[in-house]
Amino acid sequence: MIPFNKPYLTGKETHYIYDAVHSGKISGNGKYTKLCQAYFEERYGFKKCLLTTSCTDALEMCALLINIQPGDEVILPSYTFVSTANAFALRGAKLVFADSGSENPNMDADALSKLITAKTKAIVVVHYAGVACDMDEIMSVAKANDLFVIEDAAHSVESFYNGVPLGSIGNLATFSFHETKNIISGEGGMLVLNDETLVSRAEIIWEKGTNRSAFFRGEVDKYSWVDIGSSFLPSEVISAFLYAQLENLEQIQSERIKIWKRYYEALSVQENLRMRLPYIPTFASNNAHMFYLLCDSLEDRDQLIAFLKENGVLAVFHYLPLHASPYYADRHDGRILPNCDRYAETLLRLPLYYGISEEEQQKVIRLVKAHYQ
Ligand SMILES: *Cc1c(COP(=O)(O)O)cnc(C)c1O
Repeated sequence: MIPFNKPYLTGKETHYIYDAVHSGKISGNGKYTKLCQAYFEERYGFKKCLLTTSCTDALEMCALLINIQPGDEVILPSYTFVSTANAFALRGAKLVFADSGSENPNMDADALSKLITAKTKAIVVVHYAGVACDMDEIMSVAKANDLFVIEDAAHSVESFYNGVPLGSIGNLATFSFHETKNIISGEGGMLVLNDETLVSRAEIIWEKGTNRSAFFRGEVDKYSWVDIGSSFLPSEVISAFLYAQLENLEQIQSERIKIWKRYYEALSVQENLRMRLPYIPTFASNNAHMFYLLCDSLEDRDQLIAFLKENGVLAVFHYLPLHASPYYADRHDGRILPNCDRYAETLLRLPLYYGISEEEQQKVIRLVKAHYQ
C-alpha cells in the first residue's frame, strides 16, 4: 500500500534528543527552543518567534493577544482546519466565514470588504497548500478598517508572496510541525510576532501568565502572575527533534518540490481529463506541501478514491466546510459558500512525502490516468 503520508526523519533527531535529555534541562525555553526560534528569525526576518506545542496553541495565543471578547467578529475561511476557528470560538468570537476563491481554496480577497462590520476585529487567512493568499488586497482592507491580520501558515513553511516569506506579513502568524506537515516534530507549532508591541505580552501568555521570561533575562528580580496565559511552550525534547529537521530544510524542500513537479508534469499533459490541477497565482511560490486534484463531482472523486485504494494507493479528501459543521451550522449567518462547498466535494490529495519512490509515484500517475481514460 502506498500511504498518503510518511513522516521523514533526517537521522539527527535522536542525537539531539539525547543531547537535550543529558543536558539536564528538558523543560521548555532552553538551548534547542532558542536555536529553532533564532533559525526562523534569521532565515525569514520574523521579528520574534515562540515555539508552541502545536499550531492550535499558537492560534489560541493569537486570540488572547488581540484580546478577543465575546461578540467580536473574526473573518476566516470556512475551508480550513477546525483549529483556525476554534481558537477564536473559545474566546466567544462570532465567526464570519469567507468563501474560497474560484481558482484555488484560498479566501476570496475581493469579497472580503462585504463581510466587515463595526464589530470586526481580525481577519485570519490560511495559505492553503502553502500557496499565498492575495496579501496586498487583504492587508489593504485590514488597514482601511483597522483590523488585525493573522496568517495561519500551518502549510506554509518556506513559501513566499512576491518573494516575501509567508508568516512575515500579518501582525501575527502561526506554523505547524505536526507530522503531516513539511517540517515536523510529531506535534509542534510556532507563533510569529511581526508587531513589536505584542512581544512582551506574548512571552507572558506563553509562560502561564507570568513574567518568567523577563526574570530569566534578569529584567525583574522575581516572577509573578501578571496576566492571563497558559502552558504553551514545548519541552526541549520536541525542540531538539525540530532542530534536526530545520538543519535539513533545504534538502527536504527540494525533494518535495521534485515530487510535486513530477505529478504536475505527468498529469498536465493528459488531454481531456475531467479534472483540474492546482492553480498557483504568479504572486505565490510553491512549497510542495500538498498535491491535489479537483475532480468534476463528488461521485467522481469517491470513485477515484475507491479505485486508487483497490490498487494499493491511499489518496484522501480534505476539509469539511466549517460553516456547515455540526457545531457551527446553527450559528452560521446562513450565507451560501459555493466555492468552499465545491472544494469540499471535489478536492483529492495524492500521496506526497519525502521518500516516495519514482516507481511508486509512476504507479499513482498511471492509476489516475487510467481512471480518466
Ligand atoms: C495542521 C493545521 C493546523 C493545526 O496544526 P496543529 O499543529 O496540529 O495544531 C491549523 N491550521 C491548519 C490550516 C492546519 O493545516
